[in-house]
Amino acid sequence: MRLLLVEDHIELCQELREKLQQAGFAVDCATEGNEGRFMGESEPYDIIILDLGLPDISGLNILKAWRRRNIKTPVLILTARDAWHEKVDGFRAGADDYLSKPFHFEELLVRLHALLKRSAGMGGNDIAIGRLKLDEFSQSAQWSAADGVRNIILTGIEFRILRYMMLHPRHIVSASQLVEHVYDFNAEKESNVIEVYISRLRKKLGKNIICNRRGQGYYLNLDALHDTH
Ligand code: CA
Repeated sequence: MRLLLVEDHIELCQELREKLQQAGFAVDCATEGNEGRFMGESEPYDIIILDLGLPDISGLNILKAWRRRNIKTPVLILTARDAWHEKVDGFRAGADDYLSKPFHFEELLVRLHALLKRSAGMGGNDIAIGRLKLDEFSQSAQWSAADGVRNIILTGIEFRILRYMMLHPRHIVSASQLVEHVYDFNAEKESNVIEVYISRLRKKLGKNIICNRRGQGYYLNLDALHDTH
């Protein structure tokens, strides 16, 4: 999942970036409002963390500008201010969630997970389709079969790819789309390596779980995921 963090507090920005990367997000940071606004308008983010108090332009105005441009990406507002009317203003401007500083990273993480699931139209606590369940904290997957549950250890990039596909279960996703959503802006992006990761995922999950439509991309085989035999 591609995440944009707009936060002018440099140490907090670096700390959050590291922790979010460890949690499987591809993170881009902006420490100025206008830069952040531009990035939010030009890159395909899956989720945005937005500080309200920025030096050049208020976070609230950035959020309003995005929503005017019909950018529907879930936005979590992060701010030191916790006056109730500012929360109301934030939600009115189109925020999806709100967290006051200081906060525990674990709370931020569960809120981000909840927002991503909600925006994918998925309820409940887990990302799960049929017999396949993703554990976001251990970055692993579980496969439930008649003879028990199999735990599947995933590498960071395999986890990111599988999570993106499970949150877009009815889409055919191209290799270049996967690259855009699993790597950050500065990463070396090579869409041909996606094929390698997909084939590793197929080995771990079962060959028929991820299908390929030639020239278009990859999709999850929902019948195979729900298959009870
Ligand atoms: Ca600030």
